[in-house]
Amino acid sequence: MLGMRDDAYPQGTLGVNDDAIAQKDKFDRSVFKLNGYIPRIAIMGGTFDPVHYGHMVAAEAVRQEFGVDEVRFIPAHSPPHKEAGGRADPWHRYMMTALATADNRAFFPSMIEIERGGKSYAVDTVRALRRELGGDAKIYFITGADAVLEILTWKEPDALLSVCDFVAVTRPGYKRETLLAFIEKLGKDSGGKIHFLEVPALAISSSDIRARVFLGKSAKYLMPDRVLDYIEKHGLYAMPRDSAARRSAEAVLEYLRANISGERLAHTMGVAEQSVRLAQVHGEDIELAYLAALLHDCAKELPGGEISRLAVQGGAVLDELTAAFPVLLHGDAAAQLAPAMFGIDDPRVLAAVRSHTIGRPGMSALEKILFIADTLDTGRDAEAGDTHRDRRAKIRDLAFSQRNLDAAVYETLALKRDHTLGKGAKMHPLADTALEHYRPVSL
Ligand code: ATP
Ligand code: MG
Repeated sequence: MLGMRDDAYPQGTLGVNDDAIAQKDKFDRSVFKLNGYIPRIAIMGGTFDPVHYGHMVAAEAVRQEFGVDEVRFIPAHSPPHKEAGGRADPWHRYMMTALATADNRAFFPSMIEIERGGKSYAVDTVRALRRELGGDAKIYFITGADAVLEILTWKEPDALLSVCDFVAVTRPGYKRETLLAFIEKLGKDSGGKIHFLEVPALAISSSDIRARVFLGKSAKYLMPDRVLDYIEKHGLYAMPRDSAARRSAEAVLEYLRANISGERLAHTMGVAEQSVRLAQVHGEDIELAYLAALLHDCAKELPGGEISRLAVQGGAVLDELTAAFPVLLHGDAAAQLAPAMFGIDDPRVLAAVRSHTIGRPGMSALEKILFIADTLDTGRDAEAGDTHRDRRAKIRDLAFSQRNLDAAVYETLALKRDHTLGKGAKMHPLADTALEHYRPVSL
């Protein structure tokens, strides 16, 4: 790869500024290893699904601060720590990385992990690079705060730490102190060379971008325009136009627009957004999460008698509380309407719709996601006299940052309980059972 450097910097395109000339000189020296020049290469590893300015700012900061000749952006073929579903394929991720890095003289996309195939382990990649560059070369592996905190769960962490240096860069949502303490401990324990670098805080993530694109929200200025153009051109992260899920979603939306209040529609869209974001973060199917959210309140404004009739038809058993308050069964009623009216019969979606009001012990991840999303809808924060804002912030933190769905379900149930009891109403026994089920062991 280094042998290509002269082609990459054709004569005549340089000379525009001194910095570029200095860069070229460095590269030439690295190519011919004149004067014992030791190449300095940084690796920016990731899924790049898609690549964004958060990655690029981190790479640029490392290039500058560590005098790195070249930063290689290496899309993983198959990231060991991420769920397989719903990702853009490796070729698209590589192409986006190539587009994003094209205008930086020191940034290069690399196919090494994609060509190797299978699960992409950093240690294999760094070893290959070490073989290519020789024992003297300086190799820096760049990781964001989230990634570095997980490093001990990677394959052969000790070997990895001995074969290259690490640069841990700050990332919004992760405490600087936690990162520093971890680095210090790791540095001592492993004898590895770990550096800390503060980079301009960009609260950008690929999962947020994918959720935005899926929901039809703007993702401009979060990544280079040409990457966004590529996403649009290839329809990445969106629901395919001709898919059954898309047709179902449109049918539900049409029904909601005609049959439910504007307020409820706004809430439904808010829940859909939270649901999709949670599914992104937790590696669950975002189409299912979206459909479940669209459906969840579609029967809520029906007359009580109609709600219980539908719910019972679907197998629900009336008890004292639900007989008196049929609205508690609007999830069951919605699940009963979904197959016939909108062609949605996926049992995973229907289960989530059914349990979203009361909850139950042993919920699936999708059920938990809808249950939490319903409470997190940000529209609720704007509601007058809202006293639950702080508790919702806690739920948001548990679900999104700490990625602990069970703890978030527990807090959601506790919030619902306090709200219900506060109104002088009764908690459904199933919700009580669920609360006990999800109560964290340490509490
Ligand atoms: P996803 O949301 O799908 O997990 P991501 O935005 O975290 O995507 P990755 O491809 O997982 O992107 O990240 C690759 C590397 O870049 C990781 O080390 C990660 O910590 C780092 N990184 C990603 N975004 C940022 C950012 N905004 N600031 C600093 N580092 C970042
Ligand atoms: Mg990530």
